[in-house]
Amino acid sequence: MSTLEIKNLHVNVIDNEGQAEKEILKGVNLKMQTGEIHAIMGPNGTGKSTLSQTIMGQTGYRITQGDILLDGVSIVDMPVDERARRGLFLAMQYPVEIQGVTNTEFLRAAINARRPEDDPIPVMEFINKLDEKMELLDMPESVADRYLNEGFSGGEKKQNEILQLLMIEPQFAILDEIDSGLDIDALKVVSKGVNSMRGENFGSLIITHYQRLLNYIVPDTVHVMMGGKVVKTGGPDLAEKLEAEGYAGLRDELGLDI
Ligand code: ADP
Ligand code: MG
Ligand code: MG
Repeated sequence: MSTLEIKNLHVNVIDNEGQAEKEILKGVNLKMQTGEIHAIMGPNGTGKSTLSQTIMGQTGYRITQGDILLDGVSIVDMPVDERARRGLFLAMQYPVEIQGVTNTEFLRAAINARRPEDDPIPVMEFINKLDEKMELLDMPESVADRYLNEGFSGGEKKQNEILQLLMIEPQFAILDEIDSGLDIDALKVVSKGVNSMRGENFGSLIITHYQRLLNYIVPDTVHVMMGGKVVKTGGPDLAEKLEAEGYAGLRDELGLDI
């Protein structure tokens, strides 16, 4: 069993010139373990993407207080690739394109980065796994040899990130608004992929604006973020309540001034 713990996390975003900073996360606390799926919901601009980028170690964010622990070890000084090697995975709201690298090359490199240097994944094993996962996701074979995300539609990019998830098999996957821009069929396929990962060696933090996704990927725990903090934690019924009453209802209930 693995644990991911976010303790009193305060994060500033740094603007493009590295001049001004603005505090976005104001003391986030959250703890999860493999075998669990947690959802984070919250209004736009509340810091959900800032949290996911900070967990993964993307640049442009500065931790001013608090810590992020993977199996009790602080990861905040580790570069992105080291965090990935240790089993973290981030599917982003806006997936990047990488020129000149095909999907297959990327996947093989990402898988091998998590294996001992002298034990790369055997070619046939890789191909069989790729075939199996692409079939599960209803992806055409041609996608494998295309350059990473280049010319992909929004939906195809999301689907491709789920393919990465299934191939890399991380311990913890942070999925930041993987539902945005997906039609209902694509949403079902993406959910099927994530659900196929469920098990005692996999945990996921699913960030979403809407409850809809959580009808397909039913979380064990739901957190609501507002004003840069987790303001409420509950079961799946919390998501339904939010859908019915909106964030304003919760703001009133908690007496929040944010
Ligand atoms: P969410 O994902 O909940 O919609 P974000 O984490 O994307 O929220 O953004 C939180 C706040 O931080 C917003 O007010 C946004 O404008 C601001 N922000 C995020 N990234 C940057 C950045 N690179 N530079 C300046 N402001 C940013
Ligand atoms: Mg947003
Ligand atoms: Mg966001």
